Amino acid sequence: SRFYTLTDHPTGLPKRELFSLESQELPDLDEGEVRIRNHWLSVDPYMRGRMSGVHTYVAPFQLGKPMEGGAIGEVIASNHPNLKVGDKVSHMGGWRDIAQLPGDSVTALPDHNVPDQAYLGVLGMPGMTAWTGLNLIAECKPGDNVLVSAASGAVGSLVVQLAKAKGCHVVGIAGAAHKLAWLESLGVEPVSYRDRSAQELSDAIKLASPNGIDVYFENVGGICLEAALSQLNEGARIAVCGMIDGYNAETPAPGPSNLSQLVARKAKMQGFIVADHWASYGYFLNEVAPQVADGKLDYKETIKEGLESTPDAFLALFEGGNTGKMLVKLSD
Ligand code: NDP
Repeated sequence: SRFYTLTDHPTGLPKRELFSLESQELPDLDEGEVRIRNHWLSVDPYMRGRMSGVHTYVAPFQLGKPMEGGAIGEVIASNHPNLKVGDKVSHMGGWRDIAQLPGDSVTALPDHNVPDQAYLGVLGMPGMTAWTGLNLIAECKPGDNVLVSAASGAVGSLVVQLAKAKGCHVVGIAGAAHKLAWLESLGVEPVSYRDRSAQELSDAIKLASPNGIDVYFENVGGICLEAALSQLNEGARIAVCGMIDGYNAETPAPGPSNLSQLVARKAKMQGFIVADHWASYGYFLNEVAPQVADGKLDYKETIKEGLESTPDAFLALFEGGNTGKMLVKLSD
């Protein structure tokens, strides 16, 4: 098995050299274990938090030990009564080519007539995050004016489409021109944050959403949050999903200067962690999977090839190198 380890805890944007590709001979399968050949690996912004060596809501990566992450593969050996060779599974033994895990910790892929890797993106953790944040946290309802940051990413691109499907007016913030064009094709008002001050971004949001903002789905922080706060309507709800703008910060960024808008607008701001809502994953799949299979919900993937590309795929998340879900594809 070949796998990545972390050689040290990064400060700032992790350096490429901190990721070390190692190999080991796997032991014989224990009772209940399975061996899986990974076909797809997920890289996600939350992994930056696991690199810091501090326990937040998920345990930090152990230096020198195999890193972990979402992955999809095929069982190649099994000592588990419910899993057989050839079964397609999703599991957390990513950042490696062959995973050996307790069978109880892996999940057989559901059958919704979508490509396997969709269960790492639009129908996996990021999709479930979009659905949870929009419906359960922001309590988005038809007619709301919705603003989404990192709107062309894995989470954001589903948020904007779920909100459109509810009959909302939707504004999406993104970087590159091709991302803005994709958002526009989805019926979203695209707004670029590049080379803009918080005031300029606020003005652009106002133009795109003249009736203010009722729901803000926060993925970024920084000037996006400050601009969003300045456009809130009374009773607005902010679902704080993530704040990627600060994940590599060496010193904490100051909070938005206009946080008091929450008072004036009687707005609510609530963070959430998708894992706490996993009991609703079945509802999410039943609602969203048929729409993905029918092509009613669009999704994109940015695919890097080969295990060796995993660190670069991860690092590219912080430079906007992905449209939709960032994935690593492993050769057979
Ligand atoms: P994305 O697919 O959205 O990838 C990250 C994107 O963020 C980039 O493509 C880039 O797009 C944008 N970005 C990166 N740095 C900045 C910056 N400094 N300022 C503005 N935009 C930036 O990732 P995910 O969809 O996987 O995750 C989106 C957010 O959701 C993250 O904050 C993540 O931590 C959070 N999350 C939270 C979960 C929870 O349970 N609370 C679960 C899953 C994700 P662009 O080109 O537009 O700049």
